[in-house]
Amino acid sequence: MGKTQHLRIFQPHPGLYAYYDGRVPGYRFMEGDNWVDDGAIGLGIATYALVAGQAALVYDTSVSSEHGAAIRAHLEGQGVTEFTVVYSHWHLDHVAGTSAFADCDVIANARTAAHLAERCDAIESGSYAGLPEIKPLILPTRVFSGQLEMLFGDQKVTLIEANIHSDDATVLWLSERRILLAGDTVEDCVTYVDEPADFAVHLRDLERLAALEPLFVLQDHGAPDILARGGYGPEIIRATQRYIRWLMGLETAPEKCATPLQDIIADDLTTGTLEWYAPYAAIHAQNVQRTLELYGHD
Ligand SMILES: [Zn+2]
Repeated sequence: MGKTQHLRIFQPHPGLYAYYDGRVPGYRFMEGDNWVDDGAIGLGIATYALVAGQAALVYDTSVSSEHGAAIRAHLEGQGVTEFTVVYSHWHLDHVAGTSAFADCDVIANARTAAHLAERCDAIESGSYAGLPEIKPLILPTRVFSGQLEMLFGDQKVTLIEANIHSDDATVLWLSERRILLAGDTVEDCVTYVDEPADFAVHLRDLERLAALEPLFVLQDHGAPDILARGGYGPEIIRATQRYIRWLMGLETAPEKCATPLQDIIADDLTTGTLEWYAPYAAIHAQNVQRTLELYGHD
């Protein structure tokens, strides 16, 4: 209860759990401006765990130490005794619960490890992105670059590094079942733009993800009902590319900046590739602002 009173646990696929919090009307995690409500609970956030026998691969640890502890308790209830954490990227809403797994291996790519190490003191004191502080912040214990293949139980799991949304994304690819755990590389309704200067790289790396030909895409920010019933289709990757291209179009046509988000993604809403969620209008407004600044139109 308390901080995890709205935590919902789904099982979208056999042996794959989703821990979902947020998108609860009127609920706030804490008073005042804070990164948990603004970037995570307000939009809805899922983190995941893959279970094979007594082992769990925990893909992100959610927004607080209480969330991390609840995830661990749920998995222990399933008989899990060995935990390995993988970070999807360094942003705070993905790494905040790892103190519950402080005795475990934490895998990340080298960029994620560097981003976290560089900001560790400020994140632990609450001065980096403001409150709440994450203390202790658990840094990766095992680092890779590019790609890391592992056998987890009897299934192949591939960690793939990409530059989408942040320059340090790690997605999890379950090739036999064609399931992609996508972190923040796609979102429903639209990607959260932090690094617009890398748009062209984002498009290229989204192409790499599309080329995997996933059947199911489960990202960290999306609609709970869709994630609970197995995830999104591969078309969400294309929708993300279309939206990034629209933003890039502001370079030569900045007058389009006031176009409502619902118009921009209208086709993807009609086909059900995306599901409208009103708080993304504010994310879109911020995305447009950051894009216009990049192109010198602000
Ligand atoms: Zn996030």
